[in-house]
Amino acid sequence: MSGAGWNVVRCSACSTCHGHRGTGRICPHCGQKLQADAEIVTSVATAPELRIEVALANTPEELRETLRKRLLLNQKLFHHVEPLSFKGLAQVLLNSTDENGVLTVKSLQPVLTESGNLIDVDNLIEMAETQGLLVRLDAYRWQLLE
Ligand SMILES: [Zn+2]
Repeated sequence: MSGAGWNVVRCSACSTCHGHRGTGRICPHCGQKLQADAEIVTSVATAPELRIEVALANTPEELRETLRKRLLLNQKLFHHVEPLSFKGLAQVLLNSTDENGVLTVKSLQPVLTESGNLIDVDNLIEMAETQGLLVRLDAYRWQLLE
């Protein structure tokens, strides 16, 4: 199972859940290779949703409702502070472009990591597209607008 979204996958060796795209990789918790038929607990469209679902999947059932509320609240707070740091993120985008103002996930990732921003690279691109800072050129490249 794969696609544009993210899967919450349960490792059959250690029963811990984690998120990634597709299946057949290594469990980040115990290092065992994931089986192709590893249990997919749920699938979500975005990284923030994934963060919540993974946390919930690793929580005993009776505590999940409380945790879900707390995580959703945190997410709201997180979204609330985002515009404040957006100037820094625009600089990150600028520093990732080549001489034609074009950037890729590959060029953006190291600059983003170095900037200390905890935002996911896909989220940043999505946000920049929404704000009209980036225009998608093809599957891998974006044009930075002035
Ligand atoms: Zn594992």
